[in-house]
Amino acid sequence: MALLKRNKAEKRASRPRMHQRFLQITLSTVLIGISLIVVSCMGIASIQQANRKSYNTQLQTSMNEYWLEMRNRMGTDREALQIMAEYMQGKSSEEFRDFAMDLQDARQDNSFLRMGYYTRTGMQSRVRADGTLEENIPMEALEPEVQQLINYALQGKKSASQVYYDEGMQQQLIMYAAPVQAANGSVTGVVAASKDLSAFQKIFTQPSVSQSKLDVVWVDQSGRIIAASESTPLAPQGTENFLSQAGVDEQVAQSALQQMENNEALHFTIQLEGKEQTVYMQPFGMNGWYLCYADTINSGKSPIYSILITSNVLSGMIILLCLGLLYYVRWAMWGSNKELMKLAYYDRLTGTYNFEKFTQCAEDLLAEDSNYALITMNIRQFQYINEILGKAQADQVLKKLAALLRQMIGEKECFCRSNADQFYLLLHSSQEEQVRARVEAIMEQAGTIAQELNVSYPVILYAGAAMVQESAPPEELVRDLLHKAEFAQKHAVKKYQNVLAFYDRAMHRKENFQNSIESSMQSALAKQEFQLFLQPKVRLENGQVEGAEALVRWIRPDETLVYPNEFIPAFEKNGFCARLDLYMVDRTCRQLREWMDAGYEPICISVNQSRLLFYQSDYVERLCAVMDRYHIPHGYIQLEILEGLAIENIEQMNKTLAQLHEKGFRLSLDDFGSGYSSLNVLAGIQVDEVKFDKDFLLESAPDKKEKNKLALKNVVKLAKDLQITTVAEGVEVQQDEEFVHSIGCEYGQGFFYSCPIPPEEFAQRYLKKASDRSQKSE
Ligand code: C2E
Ligand code: CA
Ligand code: CA
Repeated sequence: MALLKRNKAEKRASRPRMHQRFLQITLSTVLIGISLIVVSCMGIASIQQANRKSYNTQLQTSMNEYWLEMRNRMGTDREALQIMAEYMQGKSSEEFRDFAMDLQDARQDNSFLRMGYYTRTGMQSRVRADGTLEENIPMEALEPEVQQLINYALQGKKSASQVYYDEGMQQQLIMYAAPVQAANGSVTGVVAASKDLSAFQKIFTQPSVSQSKLDVVWVDQSGRIIAASESTPLAPQGTENFLSQAGVDEQVAQSALQQMENNEALHFTIQLEGKEQTVYMQPFGMNGWYLCYADTINSGKSPIYSILITSNVLSGMIILLCLGLLYYVRWAMWGSNKELMKLAYYDRLTGTYNFEKFTQCAEDLLAEDSNYALITMNIRQFQYINEILGKAQADQVLKKLAALLRQMIGEKECFCRSNADQFYLLLHSSQEEQVRARVEAIMEQAGTIAQELNVSYPVILYAGAAMVQESAPPEELVRDLLHKAEFAQKHAVKKYQNVLAFYDRAMHRKENFQNSIESSMQSALAKQEFQLFLQPKVRLENGQVEGAEALVRWIRPDETLVYPNEFIPAFEKNGFCARLDLYMVDRTCRQLREWMDAGYEPICISVNQSRLLFYQSDYVERLCAVMDRYHIPHGYIQLEILEGLAIENIEQMNKTLAQLHEKGFRLSLDDFGSGYSSLNVLAGIQVDEVKFDKDFLLESAPDKKEKNKLALKNVVKLAKDLQITTVAEGVEVQQDEEFVHSIGCEYGQGFFYSCPIPPEEFAQRYLKKASDRSQKSE
C-alpha cells in the first residue's frame, strides 16, 4: 500500500516538474535583476553622496571667493578712509571740504559716491562725486543708520553702516566711517564715505575661479536682501526678504532667524521653481550680514551619475527582455510540448490514447480502486478488411470502433488503440457477468459498423478479459492484467464469431506447462518424476486379470499429476519419447523383478512404444539389454505399437517385428480403428494382439454406435481368423463388457474394471502369490 502511494506521488510530482523548473528560472532571473538594480542603486546613492559632498565643498570654495572679494573691496575702501582720517588729524572741516573736493575731482583713489566730515553735532560738510557740496546737517536730520555709524565711530571704532536708502541720492547706500583722532587720542570728528551697492553686485555677477557662476544673495540680519546675483532664482524680482519668500517654510525661516542671531552658518531646503533646493547661509562677519547661496545650476549632476542611471535603466530593460524571452520560450515549449504529448500519448488515427497513455491511466485508476477488468479486443481477420476494402476503408472501421468505445466507456474508465486493430479497455467492474454484458453490447454495436460504412465484410470481434483478483502495486497489476487478458484473447481467436474469453488460470497453467516441458523433461526423468501406473487387462471369459498396460504419469514436484496426453505429443515431436519409452520398459521390468522376488506370479505387461523407437537401428538390442538387466523373460513384456506406424512402412515394420518376435517379445497393435484403419494392415502385420480403440465403445451418437458395433464385430471375427488376440479398450460399463464378450472379443480394458493405478495397489488388488496357488492345488 505504501509502495502504491509512493508511486502515485512520484508520478504526480514528476508532472509539474517542468513548470517548477520554469518558475525557478523566472524567480532567479527576477532576483538577480532586483539585486543588480539594488546594488547599482546603492552605488548611485553613495556616488551621489560623495558627489554632493565634493560639490558642496566646491560650492563653499566658490562662496568663499565671493566673500573674500567683498571683504577685500570693503577693506580697500576702509583703508582709503583711514588714510583720510589720518590726514584730517588737527584739521578743520573747511580743510576737509577742500581736500574732498580735490579728491572727488580727481576720482582717483576711490569710488565713493560721497565723502563727508562729521562731528558730534552732525554733518559738517560732504562732497558728492559730482562735486556737489552739502554742509551743516544736524545729527538728528541724518538717516538713523548713518547716525548709528557716526556715533559708533565717535567712540573711536571703524565700522560700516547697515544698508540704507538715501533720499537725496535716491539709492541704497552703505557708509564707512573712520574716527579722526587728536594727538592725545581723543576723537575730534569722523570721516565717512558712502558707496552704492552696484560694486558688490558686480562681484556676484563675476564668475568665480572654481565655479562658472554661483547664485549669491547678500542679506542683513533680518533676511532683508541687500544685493543678489543677477536674475537669480534664489531672489526673484520683487522679493524683499529672503526668508519670507514663497518657497521658504515659515518654521524654517523662524529657526533660520534664530540661528542667524547666534551668527551660525546654516542651511535649509526651500522650494525653488517646483524643486527642493538646499540653501546655505554663511555669516559675513560684519553687521550680522549673511551670504546665501545654492546650487541652482546642476544639483550635483555628474557624468557618473547619469552613466549609472543609464546602466540601471539598461539592466532593467535587459531583465525585462530576459523575462520576455523566457516567457516566449516557455510559450513556444508549451506548444511543442503539447504537440509532443499528442504524439507521445495519443493515437494519431483515432485520437484515442495510445498504449503507453492507457497503461499510465490504468495504473492511476487502479491505484484508487481495484474493482476493474481489463479487456483486449481485436477485429477478426482485419488484414482481409485491409486487403479487400483498402486502407482508407479499414481506417474508417477503426475510427468507428474507437468512436463506439468512446461512447460506451464510462467515467473512471479508459481505453486505447494499440497497434493496428488491437484495442484495450479498462472497465470499472468486479463482476464477470457485468463485464460480459458490456463487452457483448460493444460487440453487437460493432456489428453495425459494416452496414454504416456500407462495407461488405463483417466486423467480428474477439476479446480476452481479466479481472483484478489480487492486490499488488498498480504497475504490477496492469502488467499482470494485460498478460492475462492477452492470453485469454489468444484462446478466443479460434471461433468465427464474436467471442469474449475470460482468463482461466488452469488453462494458463497448462500452457505454461507446455512451454516449460522442454526445459524440465530431462531433469524430470533424472528425478524420477515419470512414474509407472498400471491398468488391468481382463479375460472376458472368466473375469481374470491376465495382463496390464503400463501407462506413464508425470508427478510434478508440486505433486500435481500430469496425464500423458499433455506431454507425449510434445515428446514425440522433440524426440524425447524414445528415451521415456525405454525408461518405462525399465520401470516395468524393475517392477516385475520386484514382484518375482517377492514371490508373486508375474503377468504380461504391455508397454507403449513410440514410433521413434522403430527408426533406431539399435532398438532391439537396447530393449533386450534393459530386460536382461533385470533377468526378465522377454515373454512378460508386450510391446504396443500404433496402428498409424504400421501403415507408414509395413515392410520395414515387419522386419523389426520379426526381430522382436525372435527375441521372444509379444506384439500388440494399439488403437486399431482410430485412424484410417485398414483391414489390410491387420492382415499384413505380424502382431499377436490387436487393441480396438476406445472410441468404438465411447461413441455416444446411437446410429454411429450401432455402426461401430457392427464394424467391431467384423474386425473381431477377422482377427480371430488371423489368430490374433483381441482386446477392447474403453470398457466403461457392464453393457460394454457384455457386448464385447458377445462378439467374441477375448479381453477387456477400461474403467469398468479399473483406471490406471500405482503398481503397489495393482499388486494388492490383482496379483496372487505363487505360494497361494500351490496351497490351493494341494
Ligand atoms: P492408450 O495407449 O490408448 O492408453 C489407454 C488410455 O485410455 C489411457 O490413457 C487410459 O487411462 C485410458 N482409458 C483406459 N480405460 C478407459 C475407459 O474406460 N474410458 C476412457 N475414456 N479412457 C480409458 P492415458 O493413460 O492418459 O494415456 C493416454 C495415451 O498416452 C495412451 O493411450 C498412450 O498412447 C499414451 N501413453 C501413455 N503412456 C505412454 C508411454 O509410456 N509411452 C508412450 N509412447 N505413450 C504412452
Ligand atoms: Ca496403449
Ligand atoms: Ca489404446
